Amino acid sequence: MTKIIEIFLKCSFSWEKLKEMKEKEVKFWAADGLNLLQIVEIDEKGRSVYVINQSGKISWPLKYRKLEEVHTKFHNGEIALLAYEIDKLAPMWGNYIAGLLKYLGCDTTPLST
Ligand SMILES: [Zn+2]
Repeated sequence: MTKIIEIFLKCSFSWEKLKEMKEKEVKFWAADGLNLLQIVEIDEKGRSVYVINQSGKISWPLKYRKLEEVHTKFHNGEIALLAYEIDKLAPMWGNYIAGLLKYLGCDTTPLST
């Protein structure tokens, strides 16, 4: 039943959504399921986000533009939501970005036609 509902939902990827996640202190899993992550800081001017992992390590800034690029390519069917594929576009970020896009429901949203 949930499957049927999901097909009609769009993913919730947007800059606004990332800001909301930061404000609500939303936690999400990295793609490997081993690291619980949270967006701790948003740089509005530089349009980037900082992610903290469960051991308290804060990432270097992740550009929203880079995130958008990965997101578009995924929905265009050019890449899969796999850490090693995303790493080719955003080195070292694959695991985090795949986890984030899964959290936002991208993997249950049909490809755009
Ligand atoms: Zn999406």
